[in-house]
Amino acid sequence: MSSRTIQVSPFDLVVFGGTGDLAARKLLPAMFQRDRAGQLPDEGRIIGVSRKPLGDEGYLAFVRKALGDHVKPADLEAEAVTRFLARIHFCSVDVTGEAGWAELASLLSTGAEHVRAFYFAVTPDLFAPISQRIKQFGLVTPQSRVVVEKPLGKDGESAAEVNAAVACVFEESQVFRIDHYLGKETVQNLMALRFANRMFEPLWNSTHIDHIQITVAEDLGVGERGGYYDTSGAVRDMVQNHILQLLCLTAMEPPDAFEADSVRDEKLKVLKALKHINDRNAEHTTVRGQYRSGSVAGQPTPGYLEDIRQEESDTETFVAIRAEIANWRWAGVPFFLRTGKRLAARTSEIVVNFRPISHSIFDHTAGRISQNRLVIRLQPDEGMTLEVMIKDPGPGGMRLRSIPLDMSFAETFGVSNPDAYERLLMDVIRGNQTLFMRHDEVAAAWRWVDPILAAWSHNAQRVHHYAAGTWGPSASVALIERDGRTWLEDAE
Ligand code: NAP
Repeated sequence: MSSRTIQVSPFDLVVFGGTGDLAARKLLPAMFQRDRAGQLPDEGRIIGVSRKPLGDEGYLAFVRKALGDHVKPADLEAEAVTRFLARIHFCSVDVTGEAGWAELASLLSTGAEHVRAFYFAVTPDLFAPISQRIKQFGLVTPQSRVVVEKPLGKDGESAAEVNAAVACVFEESQVFRIDHYLGKETVQNLMALRFANRMFEPLWNSTHIDHIQITVAEDLGVGERGGYYDTSGAVRDMVQNHILQLLCLTAMEPPDAFEADSVRDEKLKVLKALKHINDRNAEHTTVRGQYRSGSVAGQPTPGYLEDIRQEESDTETFVAIRAEIANWRWAGVPFFLRTGKRLAARTSEIVVNFRPISHSIFDHTAGRISQNRLVIRLQPDEGMTLEVMIKDPGPGGMRLRSIPLDMSFAETFGVSNPDAYERLLMDVIRGNQTLFMRHDEVAAAWRWVDPILAAWSHNAQRVHHYAAGTWGPSASVALIERDGRTWLEDAE
């Protein structure tokens, strides 16, 4: 089964940070795959920008290596690589100074009518200087857009500064705040599931849903990002953006159309309806954790302090939160959110647990009737599972059991899902903001997160230690069990 591929308009994608890790691991491979799929027009160019004095040839070597390192060898057909490399250009620019900008401007002027996408794959402190120079050198055209990566600030105030710096140069309709979780096939499928089927939406409320779990678990530690991570922590790194976005898409009201502002208006309402967590209730609704040494996949694994080469740190590498949405649809339905590093597995999923049936017609010999559960998996194997009760086959009387109706997208469609960046980069060029965050969403997410961070600081809320390779501290199990519920892996 193949999907239609419609070419995007002629474009220039200018990647500030073109020699960085994000460009090498994600952006260049994603554009290469879209080129292979026939989605890029002949007039599509990719212009890497960084301080290195590379020249086109030097940058081509970088791009070749990036593709070699991050694209499946079978996909690197010679013809496709040659076509892709012909799109590549490079400009050496220190974005904090004046040098190099005139060359970039001159290169861009040869495609003045192209869609012009500026991708800020650099640290946020460079967003303001880059935006100013883009303006100074007259590089913004009506067809221009800008893509900004997380972290968008470390609290509401700094996020507002980053937004303001970009807004001095670009209209909101030109700003694409990327959250790659929203580009995942399953996340879009969540919207298809809810809004293109009759059977789920009538049940999607507190009358029928008992609680929802959202887990984003990584088995890796902080790796080389230790320095950055220690100033950030799990809430800023994962909850403020990815997890809250997943929560919004799960909980939002049906938008009137699958269009950017309609979808974003509904997500914003969810963020505004989140009950506040503050000094008074943070101890009971949040758990902070930090990994110690342990074992992952049978291998001894160092703890966080060893990873960041520090004697001590109060930064959380794990967080569990009991959230609530104060509106008619969700009143009384807890949302258990959880994310962490060095957990037992790499898995991201949304688990919708339905309420028990209201009355059983079966006697005790039929066995226990499990609650229906819908599991929406984002990784590693994107797909969905609906757990339903059936009769155990055979003549042995009426015995009930729960079976998973399982749909793995890769198996079902015989294709591996495109990387989220492929979809999102094409949306940028098409000018479709539906899967990107609006400035007021970012601000609202911080308005919920800032008081949690403040409460932890005011209350000196401790970090619980957990062994690497487990599902986090026991306090996280206690958090959900106090409510009479269990995390999915304990329920199995
Ligand atoms: P990185 O590997 O350190 O790359 C930074 C890039 O910025 C390099 O190309 C560097 O090139 C360029 N640069 C730095 N200062 C510059 C200047 N004054 N003028 C021009 N270019 C400059 O970082 P990264 O991992 O790619 O991450 C970039 C941003 O994306 C960060 O904010 C990160 O948090 C975010 N992000 C990264 C990932 C990821 O997977 N890596 C994922 C999500 C978000 P030169 O040294 O040659 O100038």
